[in-house]
Amino acid sequence: KRDSKFAEITEDHVKFFKQLLGKDSAIIDGVTKDATDDIEPFNGDWMRKYRGHTKLVLKPGSTEEVSKVLKYCNDNMLAVVPQGGNSGLVGGSVPVFDEIVINMSRMNEIRSFDEVSGALVVDAGVILEVADGFLQEKNHIFPLDLGAKGSCHIGGNVATNAGGLRLLRYGSLHGSVLGIEAVLPDGTIIDDLGQLRKNNTGYDLKQLFIGGEGTIGIITGVSIMCPQRPNAVNVAFLGLESYEKVQLAFQEAKGQLSEILSAFELMDGQSQDLVQKVTGNKRPLESEHPFYCLIETSGSNSEHDNEKLEKFLEDVMEKEIVSDGVVAQGQTQVKELWGWREGVPECLGHWGGVYKYDLSIPINELYALVEETREIIHKSGLLGDTNEHPVVDVVGYGHMGDSNLHLNVAVRTYDKRVEKTLEPFVYEWIAKRNGSISAEHGLGLAKKNYIGYSRSDTMIKLMKQIKNLYDPNGIMNPYKYI
Ligand code: FAD
Repeated sequence: KRDSKFAEITEDHVKFFKQLLGKDSAIIDGVTKDATDDIEPFNGDWMRKYRGHTKLVLKPGSTEEVSKVLKYCNDNMLAVVPQGGNSGLVGGSVPVFDEIVINMSRMNEIRSFDEVSGALVVDAGVILEVADGFLQEKNHIFPLDLGAKGSCHIGGNVATNAGGLRLLRYGSLHGSVLGIEAVLPDGTIIDDLGQLRKNNTGYDLKQLFIGGEGTIGIITGVSIMCPQRPNAVNVAFLGLESYEKVQLAFQEAKGQLSEILSAFELMDGQSQDLVQKVTGNKRPLESEHPFYCLIETSGSNSEHDNEKLEKFLEDVMEKEIVSDGVVAQGQTQVKELWGWREGVPECLGHWGGVYKYDLSIPINELYALVEETREIIHKSGLLGDTNEHPVVDVVGYGHMGDSNLHLNVAVRTYDKRVEKTLEPFVYEWIAKRNGSISAEHGLGLAKKNYIGYSRSDTMIKLMKQIKNLYDPNGIMNPYKYI
C-alpha cells in the first residue's frame, strides 16, 4: 500500500524541478505532460517482473543538482528511487508506486586517473564498459566485470556491491573502492572521494553506501583502485560428469594455476542446453556433459600462462577429473567461450520470465540445492510447455570460485504457484546451512521479506537505526528491504 506520509507530485513541484535542472532532456514529465511511452522504460526492470508508476524522472547533471533535488524532495516529503543502468535483478531500481526516479545517466564523466597508483575517479553514472574501455587505453583494468557491463553504471555497481566475474582475483568492492562522494536526503554532500589505500581514521562510512541499494543516499562519485591490465588472458572450457569432479577440478585449478587463476565459473548442462536453444551456436565441446566449468587465467606472460593451462588440462583429464576440455586459441575464442557463461542470464529470459535466486552456499553443498529444487518442481507438476505448466527448466550456474550459486527457474509466465513452490523452500534451505539469500544482487523488493533468513534480529535492528539516522523521513527508495 502506498504510504500516505508521502506527498503526491503536483505541477508546482514539476515547475521547481524544471527551473532547477534547466534542460528539457533532464526531465521526463508525465505530470503536466503525457509522457507515457518515454517514461515506461524507467518504470520497468530488466526481468520484466516489476513495474512502477512514476510520473516523473529527473536526470541531474551534477552533484550540486542532486543535492538540491534531494533537499527539495526531503522538505516536501516526496519519495525517490535512485536509478543507474536499471540492470539490477531484485527490483530495487524501479519505483513501487509513484516515487520520483532520480536517474544518474547524465553524470557520466571520468574525472581523473592516476597512472602510477591506478586510482580512477568517476561520476556515478559512468557505464562500466565505458570505464573499462578508458582503462584499456591506459593498460589498466576495472576490478569488476559482469554481463550487464554495457548498461550498468559504476554508481549502481557500488550501490549493489556487485560481485561479478573477477571477484575471485580482484576481491569485493568493499576492498577496491577507495572513496565515495554521496548526497544525503537532506542535501548534505559527503565528500569522501579520497584515493588512499589505507585510512584508519574512525568509522569507514563509505562502506554503508557500498551495497546500501540507494536506501541512505545517492552516490554521485566513486574512486576505485584499478589493477594493471594483464598481458595474457586465456580461457579453458571443461566438461565434467559430476559435482564431485567439479570440486576436484576447482582444487586442482587453485593448486596448479595459483597466481594466474582469475575466474572459475560453473554452468550445469541444463543451462547450456537453453543457451544453445536460444543462440543456435555450435557447442565448444563435441560431447555433452552434466557440468561445465569455465576457467580464466590472467597473467603477465602468455607463453608461460598457456603452458600452465594446457598442462593443467592434460593433468585433470589424465586423472579423469575432467572428461573433455578445450583451451581457447586466441582472443576470439576467449570471447566465444565466455559467451556460454555470460549468455546464460539473457537466454534464460527468452521464454518470458525467470525466478532468480542468488545465493552463497558452503561449496560442498552448492549444487545439492539445484537438484532438490528440480525434484520439487517435477513433483509440483508445473514443468511443461503451456501457461498451465509454465516452468521451462531449473538451472544452476554461477561464480563457483566464490561459492556463489545462481539458482534460476525459467518460466513462460510469472505464476504464483511457482513462487509458492520455491519460497520459502529455498530460503529455509539456505538458512539451515548458514548461507546467504543474497550473495551479490542485493535484496531490493524481491527479497525484502526474507532478510531474516540471513541476518539476526539484532543486526536488522541496527540497520534500521542507521537508516533512520541517514534518512529520518524515509524518502530514499521506500518499500524496499529496509
Ligand atoms: P540499477 O539497477 O539502476 O540499481 C540497482 C540498485 O542500486 C537500486 O536499488 C538503485 O536504487 C541503486 N542505485 C543505482 N544507482 C545508484 C546511485 N548512484 N546511488 C545510490 N543508489 C543507486 N550482479 C552481480 O553482482 N554479478 C553479476 O555477475 C551480475 N551479472 C548480471 C548480468 C546481467 C545480464 C544482468 C542484467 C545483471 C547482472 N547483475 C550482476 C546485476 C547487477 O546488480 C547489476 O547489473 C548492477 O550492479 C547494477 O547496476 P545498475 O547501474 O544497473 O543499477
